[in-house]
Order: sequence, then structure tokens, then C-alpha cells
Amino acid sequence: EFPVITIDGPSGVGKGTLAQYLTCKTGFHLLDSGAIYRSLAYGVTANQIAIDDVASLVALAETLPVEFKATSIIYDGTDVTAKVRTEEVAAVASTVAAIPEVRSALLNRQKAFAQSPGLIADGRDMGTVVFPGSPLKLYLTASAAVRAERRVKQLKNQGIDANIAQITKDIEERDLRDSSRKTAPLKPADDAIIIDTSDLDINEVCQKAMALLWD
Ligand code: C5P
Repeated sequence: EFPVITIDGPSGVGKGTLAQYLTCKTGFHLLDSGAIYRSLAYGVTANQIAIDDVASLVALAETLPVEFKATSIIYDGTDVTAKVRTEEVAAVASTVAAIPEVRSALLNRQKAFAQSPGLIADGRDMGTVVFPGSPLKLYLTASAAVRAERRVKQLKNQGIDANIAQITKDIEERDLRDSSRKTAPLKPADDAIIIDTSDLDINEVCQKAMALLWD
């Protein structure tokens, strides 16, 4: 058994940045589970699979031709890193992620990331479902306004122009869908440590997490 540190929370809360920081500091592997759901969404759109065609969704999830190379997401040989970052792909991801059969089809693939010397797992249900035995579960929160602002900045950095009102609406819809679904809804594990990042910059969040890590 290798240590798995889980980082869960809604979108735009700084999970990805914290996960990358902790990965560098620990030398552990990184699981960006959202990227798996986004890659599935990309495949669903590319293959024109209907959102209610559960058998086809599961078949794709089971054989999803995605690979993670450094910071790139390679889908069937094509670099889709930028393509899967859009809010349109995220909306499809959260729609298919609400289907229990799809989630189970992706479970083993996520668990397989837990390898020596350890894993930093970023997502929505890392501490509750995928790695319930994790010794350190972090759950990040922040107000919707702050998260929307961060998302817009992040998209700008990637050269994507985003409208704050639209992004706020999109992420509120997505968070509502993620937290109200029946299977693996977004919520902190009972033993998670909750960090409200609304008034913290990313360095402060990283320092806080590091302190917990060495505790
Ligand atoms: O984290 P990210 O924004 O990339 O995730 C995209 C979507 O994938 C989320 O809104 C959520 O619906 C889904 N997801 C999930 N479980 C995870 C990670 C992501 O349902 N562990």
C-alpha cells in the first residue's frame, strides 16, 4: 500500500495547482481524475455517442484511449490538452459523470494510479469513493464568485477569452449537477480536512497543505 493524498472540491477552487505543487514536493504520481472524465466527454462528442446511450458510454469508458504524458493529455494519439479544457467539454463531462455505470467503468483505471512511492489524487470523489483509505484527505472550498474569477484568469492564461457572467453560470450549474447526483456526489469525506481558499492565495493554500502533510 502506498500513501494516497486526496484533494477534492468544486471547480476553480485551486485543486489542480495544489495537486501539481504537492506532486513536485513529494515526487508522488499525479491523478487528475477530471481529465479522465473530460477525455471521456471528448470521445463521446467525437464519436457522436448519445448521452443516454449507456451501453456505448460504458464501452468507451472501459477502453478509453487516453494517455497522460507530463502535462499533456493524449487521446488516441492526438494532443487534446487544450481542447478538453473548455467549459463545453466540462459540461458534457459532468453529465456523463452522473451515470453510475460510467463511474464504475472508470474506477479501476483511477485506482491503478496508486503506485510507488505514492499518489496525489485530484477530483470530486477521491476521498469518498476511489481512495477511501487515504490517510490525508483535503477538501478545498471557495465562494462561487472567487472560483469564477480564478477560472476566467486560468482560461485567459491558456489564451481562451471568457466572460465572467457566463463562467459563473456555467460553474454554478456544473457544481449543482456534481453535488446533487446520486452516485458519488461532490461532498467532503467524513474524515476530510476542509480548507476554505476564498481569502488565501495559492501559495498560502500550498503551505497549509504542506504543513498538514508533515503533521
Ligand atoms: O475537475 P474537472 O473540472 O476537470 O472535472 C470535470 C468534471 O468531471 C466535473 O465537473 C465532474 O462532473 C467530473 N468529475 C467527477 N469525478 C471526479 C473528477 C471529475 O465526476 N473525480
